[in-house]
Amino acid sequence: MKSIIALDRRHVWHPFTQEQTAPDPIEIVLAQGIHLHTADGREFLDLISSWWVNIHGHAHPTVAAAIAKQAQTLEQVIFAGFTHQPAVQLANELVKRLPQGLSRVFYSDNGSTAVEVALKMALQYWHNQGQSQRIRFLAFAGGYHGDTVGAMSAGKGCGFFDTYGSLTFEVGLLPFPATWDNDAEVEAKEQAALAKLEQYLTLHGDTLVGVIVEPLIQGSAGMRMCRPEFLQALAKRLRAAGILLIFDEVMTGFGRTGALFASLKAQVTPDIICLSKGLTAGFLPLSVTVATEAIYNAFLGESFDRALVHGHSFTANPLGCAAALASLQVFEDEQTLHKLPQIEAWHRHYLAELASDPQVRHTRVMGTIAAFDVVTADEGYNSAVGPRLKAFFHERGLLLRPLGNVVYLLPPYCVTQAQLQQAYQTIAAALMQLGQA
Ligand SMILES: *Cc1c(COP(=O)(O)O)cnc(C)c1O
Repeated sequence: MKSIIALDRRHVWHPFTQEQTAPDPIEIVLAQGIHLHTADGREFLDLISSWWVNIHGHAHPTVAAAIAKQAQTLEQVIFAGFTHQPAVQLANELVKRLPQGLSRVFYSDNGSTAVEVALKMALQYWHNQGQSQRIRFLAFAGGYHGDTVGAMSAGKGCGFFDTYGSLTFEVGLLPFPATWDNDAEVEAKEQAALAKLEQYLTLHGDTLVGVIVEPLIQGSAGMRMCRPEFLQALAKRLRAAGILLIFDEVMTGFGRTGALFASLKAQVTPDIICLSKGLTAGFLPLSVTVATEAIYNAFLGESFDRALVHGHSFTANPLGCAAALASLQVFEDEQTLHKLPQIEAWHRHYLAELASDPQVRHTRVMGTIAAFDVVTADEGYNSAVGPRLKAFFHERGLLLRPLGNVVYLLPPYCVTQAQLQQAYQTIAAALMQLGQA
């Protein structure tokens, strides 16, 4: 039999990859806790939670057992006209934990579809109330909301999608007041963003549907963080103007920011929230778009015209719902939320040690996420230091994947102090090598 790598190179097309120049992919045969084991006997520390989805560590037995059990009774059933206990119970458990007022759970399959649903819900919310002139959305520069067409439109501020511009609809962009440790300008940046919002409301307020934002942390843009105060001011202004606020918590949900949700940490309740990545503890693709009762009510009526015309083959897949319920159980069994301040403290400690390196700029930490910018001539997602650092980390058994010149850690919550220390030591060594080059 041909090796997996040879077969892979023959028939597989990988995401976000230039297949001609990318090195061979690494074959993983086993994952346990924070460790990934390769086919050729090496071990990686998964310090990015396998693209931000893993929560409790790989192969957590509680989640694995719940999926196996569910698979023996009900693996899948149509969700229009039918229902099942895992979906209903999960909706109830999520509503209990979300900010009060978010009470209607719509299921789909991944972060992008959760965003598509949110955009359609928001647009039709107005349409159903005779305000079909409301067709505009506002998003943030740097914002990323997924790779499907609507999500690309909302995410045009991230710069990945210029090729597909002709497919996307128009979205206005506000500056994102990204901040970091010891940032003296943060309030000025926030004021500038709010002033821009004010301008937009004056010009287009009566055709605006809503604003979509990654609350507290823009992930793909390079772990750019903002203050809760900014989100509070944004929400207050939108509420006064009667404009909908959509939180894309696909990445920030389930503990990443130190609280179960960024909306809880920021003490802001949006009208619609999108959750995915950590929802099933990284086991299965599943997402939810959760709306307020006011939004749900706007879809009620005698005719189908008023209904939300959206659904996927695997809507509310029972295996995914069982995994998500088990993950919430692990949060309780292991008191996971109580572990997160410890991870944050370790980040702060080790990042402070790095911060004296003149190549390190804009250190920032929130909850389980730490990041900094590497000072370099070509900054941004296509920066040449990204691939160089990635190769350096891979050779030393760290799964770290810089976003251009931004180095970040986003570990599963089972990470130990020794593992983080090892990671930061390797990052320091990488910086030393960069500095000598
Ligand atoms: C990853 C991500 C998405 C897209 O989720 P997929 O499951 O990859 O489709 C959307 N929004 C944010 C903030 C994300 O980080």
